[in-house]
Amino acid sequence: MNGHLIPKCHLWTLEPLTRDDIFRSIEVIRTFEEDSHFSRRLVRCCACGQLYLKEFYEEIDWESGDDPQYVTFIPVRDEANAVEVNTLNSLGLLSVRPSIRVDHPKGMPLTVKRLL
Ligand SMILES: [Zn+2]
Repeated sequence: MNGHLIPKCHLWTLEPLTRDDIFRSIEVIRTFEEDSHFSRRLVRCCACGQLYLKEFYEEIDWESGDDPQYVTFIPVRDEANAVEVNTLNSLGLLSVRPSIRVDHPKGMPLTVKRLL
């Protein structure tokens, strides 16, 4: 859906890219959906203005507080494009490129991946 869009945002060139780098760089523009274990938001890079659709997803395993967490950032052209991408479910979002994924599976190290 967005494969042609390679952002000029510093989040695509910064080495290494950490979770904190991303979260320090963004501000929320619009919230599409929000509860304690799932959210979809339109966010903007404060440095360059690049827009991203951000999904936060937490699996609940009822065993401990250390629940697996996954955050996905899909660069979008504008708000209308974000609305369009937002129609995809979480599984659909996984196949959209480019994307940045911050994955923290249970008992595993947190990883930050840029997928082109
Ligand atoms: Zn940027």
